[in-house]
Amino acid sequence: MKLLIVEDEPGISSFLKEGLEEASYAVDISGDGKSGLELALKNEYNLIILDWMLPAMSGIEVCRQLRKAENMIPIIFLTAKKTLDDLVFGFDAGANDYIKKPFEFEELLARIKVQLKKNLTDDSTIKAGQLTINPLSHQVFFASKEIILTPKEFALLEYLVRNMDRVCTRNLIIEKIWEIPFESDTSVVDVFITFLRRKLEKAGCGKIIQTIYGVGYIVRERDLL
Ligand code: CA
Repeated sequence: MKLLIVEDEPGISSFLKEGLEEASYAVDISGDGKSGLELALKNEYNLIILDWMLPAMSGIEVCRQLRKAENMIPIIFLTAKKTLDDLVFGFDAGANDYIKKPFEFEELLARIKVQLKKNLTDDSTIKAGQLTINPLSHQVFFASKEIILTPKEFALLEYLVRNMDRVCTRNLIIEKIWEIPFESDTSVVDVFITFLRRKLEKAGCGKIIQTIYGVGYIVRERDLL
């Protein structure tokens, strides 16, 4: 999932970037409306967090231009209180949601998830036996019961299931999920595998993650049926 933040206050954008990356999203930042629009038209994002008052081009104008270009990416506006009365313009321009400054990060995150879920296509859902993984909403279900995972546990399970019937080495997992280079200490992987196994087994999923001794881990399709 890749998000774009268009915000001219560096304090806010770096705070958002940090929090969203922690929640396993990839994040680009733009500091003005004009370059924000260019980035949004050039790259494939899943959602844009768009400030209202921006240099070079207002958030409203960015939103209008995107919709004019038939780009239907979900857009969440950040608005200062004084622009709240103008919100109707925001929705007219094609915004999907808004959040009022100052805001709680958790609330923004919840709203992002709602928008990404709405935008969900069936193709993105991973189904393996009774296990369903939804990368857009960051949800995992076993036999329609939700399993609550942390972002790292989620990323780990998604990686293993996407690579079904293939051994995932600790080095590969460290590189893909933790984004730190090869030959680091990989014991953190084992710790998270333990957490993940515990949650999966508690949900009735059984022992689906097998250890390949001295190498890594594997999820086999036959164990998921
Ligand atoms: Ca601003």
